[in-house]
Amino acid sequence: MLKDKDRIFTNLYGQRDWQLKGARARGDWQGTGDLIRQKNREGIIQDVIASGLRGRSGAGFPTGKKWTLLPPLGSLPRYLVINADESEPGTCKDRDILRYEPHKLIEGALLSSFAIHAHHAYIYIRGEYYREAEHLQYAIDEAYDARLLGKDAAGSGWDFDLYIHRGAGAYICGEETALLESLEGHKGLPRLKPPFPAVMGLYGCPTIINNVETIAVVPTLLRRGASWFSSIGTPQSTGTKIFCISGHVNKPCNVEEALGIPLRTLIETYAGGVRGGWDNLLAVIPGGSSVQLIPKEVCDTVTMDYESLHTQKSGLGTAGVIVMDKTTDILQAITRIARFYMHESCGQCTPCREGTGWMWRMLTRLSKGEGSSADIDLLLDVTHQIEGHTICGLGEAAAWPIQGLVRHFRKEIEQRQRKAA
Ligand code: SF4
Repeated sequence: MLKDKDRIFTNLYGQRDWQLKGARARGDWQGTGDLIRQKNREGIIQDVIASGLRGRSGAGFPTGKKWTLLPPLGSLPRYLVINADESEPGTCKDRDILRYEPHKLIEGALLSSFAIHAHHAYIYIRGEYYREAEHLQYAIDEAYDARLLGKDAAGSGWDFDLYIHRGAGAYICGEETALLESLEGHKGLPRLKPPFPAVMGLYGCPTIINNVETIAVVPTLLRRGASWFSSIGTPQSTGTKIFCISGHVNKPCNVEEALGIPLRTLIETYAGGVRGGWDNLLAVIPGGSSVQLIPKEVCDTVTMDYESLHTQKSGLGTAGVIVMDKTTDILQAITRIARFYMHESCGQCTPCREGTGWMWRMLTRLSKGEGSSADIDLLLDVTHQIEGHTICGLGEAAAWPIQGLVRHFRKEIEQRQRKAA
């Protein structure tokens, strides 16, 4: 369990002043200029690498390593783009950072941009996060007024400008290259990779794209040290994470905890437990709707870190924990998720455009008890034909929940077919 003194987000619930005065009282912006001058570019990157910080958006790629993928400095400018297009069902962690801890993000943007040699950064914020964008813009204006941004930002000697760009509410714009397209004023269609954004990103220039939570932890990580950060969590999944617990729990909430906390402890300590008690649990989707669900017997012992969930063929993803008790029609729940991915497919590649609709239609039939055992095999086969054969990860995001359903609840699907017959 995380000790209070190790919490990074001390205003996660917005009970205190989120503006600059309150943020400074909580330790934000303390000695930022000195930190930049003393640590220098290499020192900051080394600290981030040594801390073991992994991207908090879902993929879990090591942040420091990502920063080192930039090509050598040339004539082209470099950019930092912060992905605040939080749209994964079951996930609302960045939202609380944007509205209650905006200065952590802004300070993190300065430190991270300096580390990657970027004078400009963009925060691409989900269109529906209207109030959050207002808070963020207010906080950015405060930071400019206090000379924490702009020329010689925070007295560091580094010129740095930060801009907000509001999206229009498309899930696919959370995919990093679609986000860049949208930021450039085009349709949000994912790009073929390579080239990766680190080499050719925004406006054709080297670009690092990181999630809100990833950037927001950087100032505290640098102030308290890489060894402090890596002492929390497990050896491979270090640090704290904001978990979003929703669904059939007594008190849905967001909470910052150490990675590696047992799922059961997380739900029972912070979310008031499963509705009707732990034995009433059916399954949990542990990382936002795109990862495979895990049934109760796995939930009994699994811990919330990248490795443990990977071993269970699921994933930590965004840490959006969706709890489903025994009243859930699991087939209908996954059918609804399949419909979401069908709706959000951008339609560029055939396996995703055609496959997501096909899978949704097949699941709709199966949830009515129609079809046969061979149809379940066919459905599974189609998920594997989509997985890994598309331009972006939405193909996998659509396939994995269905694979989880069949892996753990095949008997229930067949039982429904027998009943209907
Ligand atoms: Fe578009 Fe789907 Fe292809 Fe991604 S996988 S590019 S969302 S059609």
